[in-house]
Amino acid sequence: MNKIMMNTPLVEMDGDEMTRILWKWIKDDLLEPFVELKTEYYDLGLENRNATNDEVTKLSAEATKKYGVAVKCATITPNAARMTEYTLKEMWKSPNGTIRAILDGTVFRAPIIVKGVEPYVANWKKPITIARHAYGDVYKASELRIPNAGKAELVFTSEDGSETRELIHNFKGAGVLQGMHNLDGSIQSFARSCFNFALDTKQDLWFATKDTISKKYDHTFKDIFQEIFDKDYADKFKAAGIEYFYTLIDDAVARVVRSEGGFIWACKNYDGDVMSDMVATAFGSLSMMTSVLVSPEGNYEYEAAHGTVQRHYYKHLKGEKTSTNPIATIFAWSGALRKRGEIDSNRELMEFADKLEAACIKTIEDGQMTNDLAIISSLKEKTVLNSEDFIKAIRVNLEKML
Ligand code: NAP
Ligand code: MG
Repeated sequence: MNKIMMNTPLVEMDGDEMTRILWKWIKDDLLEPFVELKTEYYDLGLENRNATNDEVTKLSAEATKKYGVAVKCATITPNAARMTEYTLKEMWKSPNGTIRAILDGTVFRAPIIVKGVEPYVANWKKPITIARHAYGDVYKASELRIPNAGKAELVFTSEDGSETRELIHNFKGAGVLQGMHNLDGSIQSFARSCFNFALDTKQDLWFATKDTISKKYDHTFKDIFQEIFDKDYADKFKAAGIEYFYTLIDDAVARVVRSEGGFIWACKNYDGDVMSDMVATAFGSLSMMTSVLVSPEGNYEYEAAHGTVQRHYYKHLKGEKTSTNPIATIFAWSGALRKRGEIDSNRELMEFADKLEAACIKTIEDGQMTNDLAIISSLKEKTVLNSEDFIKAIRVNLEKML
């Protein structure tokens, strides 16, 4: 069989621990035998981030802006324990945070659905994708503990020195106070990323805030979304046969639970934090959750939603076989290859991505799976495989499909 050729390189961001091991196995067994892989390789493993003073992370994000599509392995975000474990020069920042700051994007997370791993919500038939705004609100807030009676005000001092004041509360005794913000620019980017992703994936977009209570703050989110939609997206949505739908957050929660899925739910930062864990858990497993960062200019960075699976890596280092689930990492590759194929009009590459995903799903639905899935799968006949054997089983199915 002739290998599938690629026109443009993918930005490949290698990572850490167990996912770095899986990364190599996936490439060796599922990609390189079939595709003449063209990648621009960046080693985001913690050792190399430390050696390059984290320059490699920035370069990889810049490369993503140049080529448009990246695939990323999970990486360690250093903490105190990692400082000694890797003898770090500094406690380098989260690579995901650095990449997000450079690409200015929105993170979309969607579950991979397989028979046997049924969502806890019985009527959910299709994935629900959560789009979380990743800037501001309570994550960049200032807070005060108020010790006694007194007056609290919001004060904005303009560049020209003029002041605008708004009473928050006349405290009669002790209490708490919080000040938070967001930026029109960031909300606009969030909105555009969501509209673009909805068009890309041909799914309806839902957005919800509490604008009836928060008449300026949340209302601004609602207005910005609506303005951008009316101006730049209404016609495109109509042509694609999809809808943009705004409602109140509490109404959205009720509708989401009653729905059959198959849409994107755009959430403000805090709502996205809370709801993505709820949706991920309700769909079954974090190891079956994909994640893609989409920038407002239309650059894409695909990854798995889980971390480097440290506990499994230490077993691997001791020579033990682990049953770490590679599915979300494989889907990061298939997502990136499909998007690359789409941009380059490379039909073969897009079809390969579809078949790779289909082979993964067939393998699991035929009863061959890693331990994390076996625990929750309702299939009667199932075989627990270690990661290597599971990847080999996927390869057998993939070869039949190609
Ligand atoms: P984790 O890697 O997501 O793993 C937590 C636990 O979840 C594992 O111990 C395992 O449970 C289970 N698990 C997660 N993914 C799995 C998979 N693919 N297959 C089977 N089981 C899986 O989180 P962590 O151990 O808290 O974090 C490890 C490192 O990852 C940290 O240094 C953190 O900074 C980093 N991290 C990176 C990213 C990213 O790059 N996007 C995201 C999150 C965390 P059992 O042990 O019970 O089997
Ligand atoms: Mg959270």
